[in-house]
Amino acid sequence: MQTQRCLRDIRRTLRKMREEQQQQQQQQQQQQQQQSLSMYEKLGRIGEGTYGVVYRARDKKTNEIVALKKVRMDREKDGVPITTLREVRILQHCCSHENIVHLMRVVQGNQLNNVFLVFEYCEHDLASLLDNMRQPFLESESKCLIVQLLKAVEYLHDRWIMHRDLKLSNLLLNNRGELKLCDFGLARSFEPEREGEEESDEEIEEEEDEEDDNGKKRRRRKKRQMCYTPKVVTLWYRAPEVLFGDDAYTASIDIWAAGCVLAEFLKHDPLFPGKTEVTQLELIFKLLGAPNERIWPGWSKLPNVGTTLVPEQPYNYLEHEFPNLHQRGIDLLNLMLTYDPKRRCSAKDALAHPYFKTQPRPKLKSEMPSFPTLHSRVNKNENDFGEKF
Ligand code: ADP
Ligand code: MG
Repeated sequence: MQTQRCLRDIRRTLRKMREEQQQQQQQQQQQQQQQSLSMYEKLGRIGEGTYGVVYRARDKKTNEIVALKKVRMDREKDGVPITTLREVRILQHCCSHENIVHLMRVVQGNQLNNVFLVFEYCEHDLASLLDNMRQPFLESESKCLIVQLLKAVEYLHDRWIMHRDLKLSNLLLNNRGELKLCDFGLARSFEPEREGEEESDEEIEEEEDEEDDNGKKRRRRKKRQMCYTPKVVTLWYRAPEVLFGDDAYTASIDIWAAGCVLAEFLKHDPLFPGKTEVTQLELIFKLLGAPNERIWPGWSKLPNVGTTLVPEQPYNYLEHEFPNLHQRGIDLLNLMLTYDPKRRCSAKDALAHPYFKTQPRPKLKSEMPSFPTLHSRVNKNENDFGEKF
């Protein structure tokens, strides 16, 4: 009898402990939720990019305005998309720079499979801003912006990271004249000593069973190395080596893209607005002359060279395209838009270029004009952050 009573007591105590544990877990979950999406009040939708919707929101406690990027899960069967994993990994671990957008935290939505990246908020992206500006940026303003972009690129390349998607819509501008590079969905690291070859992150280690001479099975580790994906960088900013199918390109594809951005600021129009990969190359040939083995050793061995119609066009027309630009500006553009990636300048070289010491000098950030944001509209008809809670 006594033993039975004793057992009953133990069971009761255990049940109580379990209940307490469950209660604690529930409380923890609630706390986590309070630290999650419900911390924010949605103010409006900023934009929808390739990989997710971006909202403007207010931190209810601190009143701080933030940008929330909702991760699009529906395309991925296995949870968080690789682009988001890359973006979070690179931004959280390697990138703390005034010209790189600050990832403040990652929060969970109320629906379990919703994830939001919380970023510092910027009033504009340069693509929408340029579309809506009455007057284009002055040369001194363009210089201020491109210097900031180059500082971000220099910082990344120094840390063996390439962005791979530099373009105006991935350049944010706040009302303090600060440019912030965003959208690290295509960014990846590269290995310094093997720059231009394959790299570890995309190496696949395969294990294979193999019979040895005695008929015994041995596991053989096969190292297969993958090359970089060839579909990086929006067409207009895509470097010629990528267009020619080079899958061992280097970080200097970012410099080509930055050169296109600089030219776009100065020209007030995109430099190479190709509609297809073929017309993209045609536009490049037309302005810079056609490539050849002399100016770009190894070019003729690139995969798509055989199938590309390369015209007899030996002239560089950059000076004609930019008649009012100082010779030093032409020189910098030529260095950034050099065909041979090995001879293309680095971000460090570009920053040290005398063009930035030439009149008009780059404006100070504090002197940059500010513009009314297009984000202030609140769309009350939508569910908050696209999910019910
Ligand atoms: P995607 O990979 O979908 O292109 P982005 O990170 O480029 O995602 O974001 C899409 C758009 O959302 C940007 O072009 C910009 O207009 C806006 N945006 C992104 N981050 C911010 C931010 N921190 N502040 C303000 N707007 C932002
Ligand atoms: Mg983008």
